Amino acid sequence: MNYKHLFGPVPSRRLGVSLGIDLVPYKTCSYDCVYCECGKTTNLTTERQEYVPTEEIIAELQEFLEHKPELDYITFSGSGEPTLHTGIGRIVEYLKSNFSKYKIALLTNGSLLFDRDLQNSIRAVDLIMPSFDAYSNKVIQSINRPAQKFDRDRYIAGFKEFFKKYQGRVEVEVFIAKGVNDDAEEIRKIDNFLSDIDVDMIQLNTLDRPGTDEWVQAVSKEELKTVKGYFKNNPAEIIAKFKSRKKSKAYSSDIKAKILETISRRPCTAQDMVDVLGLHLNEVNKYLDVLAREGKISTKKQDRGIFYSKKS
Ligand code: SF4
Repeated sequence: MNYKHLFGPVPSRRLGVSLGIDLVPYKTCSYDCVYCECGKTTNLTTERQEYVPTEEIIAELQEFLEHKPELDYITFSGSGEPTLHTGIGRIVEYLKSNFSKYKIALLTNGSLLFDRDLQNSIRAVDLIMPSFDAYSNKVIQSINRPAQKFDRDRYIAGFKEFFKKYQGRVEVEVFIAKGVNDDAEEIRKIDNFLSDIDVDMIQLNTLDRPGTDEWVQAVSKEELKTVKGYFKNNPAEIIAKFKSRKKSKAYSSDIKAKILETISRRPCTAQDMVDVLGLHLNEVNKYLDVLAREGKISTKKQDRGIFYSKKS
């Protein structure tokens, strides 16, 4: 079977061996984050609907999981916002009823958690990893660039309401961009807000490779340590991407070699690699992270996006 909605299993630094489920078409998202590794959001929306047939996703899961693969997580992720899909609850229910041995994770920007129907749909997920890059509306607008109908006060209230009752594990990802949300004032606001929720870990991240917009800059490791020090009420750690990913059982040197070989012939965008190698964009991105950390690739921004080539 050729899977349209499943990808991987991919080596995930936080989730071990993770089977990805992509619930929405390419770059359908309620945010257009300046750092997004998947490129510019092409469908910026807050409208929840059945973007791809739920039963088609369930049929793919049935086929994949009946072979009893070894997985640490089945993860809702992809190149857009999974909670925009109205069938997410049905899929969670299906997995819990038929394949209960697998843990479920959800990567979300959290912007739609005010929706009561969504809240009920995802309560049984084992691990939720919401991003939360800013508390102030001004900073949210700068870094996440939400859809027009986004209402910041409703978002903040919905986020708190959901996580106050949620029983699973919560790992919040905060993406730090230089000069945007790296100041003590904004970080303390985030820290204070999250202290009302039972957060298991805050994970700090910054840019490894160019983001959607050229002006976005990473902070240095030292600066990230300073930011970590601003968190007083919640446990925080800096994501150690590169090492942990290579240790994962799903890490494939073959895929890494194929990517290197492809970009040694001519510079390619991540999407070109998806087309040539038949991989999911998230999978390609995970290996580009490793190659960037190893200093094996260089990047150049052009009209069609960011082009990767092999360093000689
Ligand atoms: S929320 Fe995630 S998928 Fe959407 S633009 Fe931001 S980083 Fe990309």
